[in-house]
Amino acid sequence: MLAPGTLTRYPSGPQHGEHTVRQWIAGEWELHDRQWGPPGKLRLTRPGDAFEVWATPGMHEDGTPWYVNLQDPLRRVGVGFTTIDHLLDLLVSPDLHTWEWKDEAEFEFAQETGLFSTSRAAQIRAVGLEIVTAVEAGQPPWDPSWATWTPPES
Ligand SMILES: [Mg+2]
Repeated sequence: MLAPGTLTRYPSGPQHGEHTVRQWIAGEWELHDRQWGPPGKLRLTRPGDAFEVWATPGMHEDGTPWYVNLQDPLRRVGVGFTTIDHLLDLLVSPDLHTWEWKDEAEFEFAQETGLFSTSRAAQIRAVGLEIVTAVEAGQPPWDPSWATWTPPES
């Protein structure tokens, strides 16, 4: 759980778009402290999984989708974890009946510029497609009851 106020470290500047891809290729980025804002975010993953599933408090009521963030498996560092985003994401409806890719154009750009090779991009998309297959079979790789989760009072 990233509770409001949790100290994280993110690259400076925009977190999406061609600008970000160019920053990564050039190696011109640094991590900066960033406090996580309200309402916080529940991030579900398992060791070795190349994705996280993000749940937002109240998502079941307001239709906010499950956000499946494709990324490197979490790696422990110091007092926390680190990962690298894979740009392509999946949005899955709270009731698990529909899904869509997110940020495909950015993912394409990453391939055009050589950030991801064709084979690497295929690996990344395959992880997403495995999740889609599981969701469509009614067996998402996470517990859907997290949709009704609410953070503890602080
Ligand atoms: Mg992402």
